[in-house]
Order: sequence, then structure tokens, then C-alpha cells
Amino acid sequence: MTDQIDRVNERTFESLDPRTGLALATYPIADTADVEFAVARARSAATWWDALGFAGRRTWLLKYKSAIARDAASLAAVITAETGKPDDDAILEIQLGVEHIDWAARNAEKTLKQRKVGSGLLAVNQKAYVGYRPFGVVGVIGPWNYPVFTPMGSIAYALAAGNTVVFKPSELTPGVGVWLAEKWASLAAPHPVFQTVTGDGSTGTALVESGVDKIAFTGSTATAKKVMATCAKSLTPLVAECGGKDAMLVDSDANIAAAVEFATFGAMGNAGQTCAGVERIYVAAPVYDRFVAEFASAVRALKPGGTKTSSYGPMTLGKQSDIVRGQIEDALAKGGKVVVGGLDSLHGPYVDPVVLTDVPEDSTAITEETFGPTVVVNKVRNLEEAIARANASKYGLGASVFTKDAAVGRRAAEKLDCGVVTVNSVLGFAAVPALPFGGTGDSGFGRIHGADGLREFSTVKSLTVQGFAAPVDLLTMNRKARNVKISVLALKLRHGRG
Ligand code: NDP
Repeated sequence: MTDQIDRVNERTFESLDPRTGLALATYPIADTADVEFAVARARSAATWWDALGFAGRRTWLLKYKSAIARDAASLAAVITAETGKPDDDAILEIQLGVEHIDWAARNAEKTLKQRKVGSGLLAVNQKAYVGYRPFGVVGVIGPWNYPVFTPMGSIAYALAAGNTVVFKPSELTPGVGVWLAEKWASLAAPHPVFQTVTGDGSTGTALVESGVDKIAFTGSTATAKKVMATCAKSLTPLVAECGGKDAMLVDSDANIAAAVEFATFGAMGNAGQTCAGVERIYVAAPVYDRFVAEFASAVRALKPGGTKTSSYGPMTLGKQSDIVRGQIEDALAKGGKVVVGGLDSLHGPYVDPVVLTDVPEDSTAITEETFGPTVVVNKVRNLEEAIARANASKYGLGASVFTKDAAVGRRAAEKLDCGVVTVNSVLGFAAVPALPFGGTGDSGFGRIHGADGLREFSTVKSLTVQGFAAPVDLLTMNRKARNVKISVLALKLRHGRG
């Protein structure tokens, strides 16, 4: 925790620059007592935060987003140092995160304020309302690949809905988490509405067990299962945003140049370390050879490295390279072909682009998340076959469809088993705060972003107010025979005539 003075626990860890392996800073590993202390402070701030109402919270959140925007260069420097990604990518991520704070702040009241609903024929004597209340304290657990944008999709929406937040960033990006909480504290130090606790997986477990009222987890499917098992012990609700194996579908009439451009960005951007990045590409036979040739030439031009102008940076989590290597080996052993790069593409913390073709659908490069700059391009007969292959995955985060005919794209989107589809672009949804984000299957459940994201961090409160005695009163232990007869007649007249 950033401002706890009397620490008993003195275990620490270092954050590292993945480009050099050099230590950047030392942070405490928050233990159970530290986490409980932070949660208790968050609980004490929750009353103040809730009492501010939507308008008051909106003012604070807009101040917060402005403070982040003004100081974006300093935050970008921390992101770049801890993840190795180029500065431009760090700035883009901050921009998206700030957009989400802005949207959540401005739309919480409209989405969550109490609204009147029809009370129906049986309850004409009552007025009915639906309202949304904050859970209390939300624990947010985040990954390292987009250490601002990704957790902010939970933090901003949880705060706007009236909760306070204790955030546990990935152990690879603690500095980013601390920066975000310190920025809040610089505006409202007496009100610890948003705090960060640093540490490893044990700190994450402590947060899940701390008695918080909801957990928002973003990370791998394997960790999500552990978190869910811990949540089950206390019936703590959970929203889980996990990995993906997103497919890009290219129809025979698609604009190939545009599809190639987006495929290059979607597969290789951020060194492929994007939950909704492009990991499989299914191209219709008539345009397959042209697509592969143009795509190969586009990715060959990329220059990964550790400089400001590099196309993308290193693998932030060093051991992820082993997964990438294993998937390439498995694909080649099963008959896949290499079009760009290969096992030689892995050097130090960097992985040069790898494009594989003709990879059997049971290869791990198709079935498991890669999270590296490696992509499979397989030929299919048509869009229908592409949809079937895309849907064969246990993951269901996102997909993209490239076709000249937007109506065909939208119909394909209906058939794709996943949470978000883009037609003729990739990742476009990230810049639309109104769109809920989340997956199905091994990609998790629940939604962040948009109105659904605000509701995700709210409990629903239903209310009826009786205005006058019911003309036909059945909610009594002294029901009159006449009223029962009327109700039986009403049942037949209203519902029995179909
Ligand atoms: P991990 O699952 O390894 O870790 C996620 C977070 O959980 C980290 O903060 C981690 O802490 C923490 N953690 C680890 N063990 C536990 C535990 N037992 N209890 C509670 N918390 C724990 O994921 P990565 O950080 O490696 O992130 C990459 C993954 O995230 C990929 O699968 C990617 O697809 C997914 N992701 C999903 C997104 C989505 O919105 N769907 C967006 C971005 C990424 P520590 O780091 O200290 O171990």
C-alpha cells in the first residue's frame, strides 16, 4: 500500500525493465494484514464516496482523468519502463484509459439512477422502481500487458458506480499501479477511495480473501479459476476477463490491403500480448495466396526492439517466449509451414514476427493462447467454414470479419460465439467506451465498459410502493372467495385464450 506507515511485513520485490533485466524500483509485497488494512480504509471512504452521489463522484472522476491526461508523459514513462512497449503505444493506452474514466463518470447517473418500471395489471395499486447501489469495496486484480487501460476498465466503472477500489496490479507493473493510486491521493488524500496494494500472487489471494464485496479479475484463465475457487468460499461475486484466441475471417471479396494492414497491427502490435489480438487468420481460398504474400511482406518490414521507434517491444513476461517456442515446434511437428520467421525469431527478450500456414487445427498454436507475435494463417473454402473454425475454440473473446458487404459481416458476427466482433477493422471496440467488453467460455464472464460495465459494479435494488389498497386483494391471509373467483376468471381471460 502506498501510504501505510507502520509496516510490520517487510517482504519486497523489484520491478524490472524487460528490455535490460535491470531493476527499476523496489515495492512491498503486501500480506494479508496490509491488504486488510487497505480494505478497511477503502470501507471507511465508501460512506463519503457513496454520499457524494452521481454528480459529486462525476466531478472527482473528471478531475482525476484531467490530472492523468496532464501528466500522461510521466505515466507513459513508467509503462514503457515496466513493459518495454514503445512510448507511442503507452500514450495510446493512457488515452483509451482516460476516455473510459470520462465515459463512466458522465454516464453513471443516466445508467444507474433509480427508474420507474410498469407495475402490471396485478399490481396496479403499486408503483415500481429499479435502482442500482454500489457493492461497497471492489478488489481489482490486473494483468501487465495493458497496465493502465485494462484495469481502468474495472476501476473507473466501479468508482463511478459508487464503490471504492483496492487495486492489485501485476507484479510486473507495480509502478503503474502505484502511479495511478498516488495520482488519486494527490487530489483527495483524506479519502482513500482508490488505493493500490503491490505484491505477487499471494497479495492477489489476500485481496480475494479480504472480505471485499466484489472482485474484478483480468488475467489468464488458469488464474481466474483459482480466484473463482477462492471467491466461492465467501460467495464473493466475480467478473472475470481472461485470455483469448481471436480469429480474423477474410472473405473472398474483402479489401485485402486493409485486411493485411489490420492483421499486421492486430497480430503483432504490443508484441502480440493483447488479449483480443489476432491469433488465427482464416482466409477464403480465392484470395488466400494473395493475402499470405502481402501479409508476409508487411510483417517482414516490422522492426521489434527497445527503442522509441521500434514496431513493438520485448516479451514483458520472459517465460512467455517458451510458450511461443513450444507452439511453433508443435505446429511444425504436425505439418505446419513457416512463411515468416521461425524458431530463430526468438532472441533474448525479443521475438521477431512469425507467420505460420497450413497449421492443423489441433495444434497448440490454434487451440491455446499464444500471447506473442506469432500468427497462423489457414485457408478455408468460404466464410461459413471460417466461422465454424473460429467457433471451435474454447475461448470466446473477440473476432473480426473482413468483407465488402457489411450486411454479410453483421450476419457472420451473429454466428460467432464470442463477446465482441469487429467488421473491417480489429480492436476498434477499445475506443468505444459505450461498448461492453468481455468474453464467453474460457475467456471469462461478466462485462466491463459501457452501461453493462457500470451495472456489473452495482447491486440491483427493486422497490414497490403501494399507493392504495388492491381492488382484488390476494396478498392477505383473509382472502375473500369473490376475489379468488375474479382472479381465476382474469387468469383465463388474460392468458388462457391463445
Ligand atoms: P495472470 O493470470 O498471471 O495474473 C493476473 C493477475 O492475477 C496478476 O495481478 C497476478 O499477480 C494475479 N494473481 C496471480 N495468482 C493469483 C491468485 N492465486 N489469486 C489472485 N490473484 C492472483 O495473468 P497475466 O498478468 O500474465 O496477464 C496475461 C493474461 O491476461 C492473458 O491470458 C491475457 O489474455 C489476459 N488478459 C485479458 C484481458 C481481457 O480483458 N479479457 C485483457 C488483458 C489481459 P502477479 O502478476 O503478481 O502474479
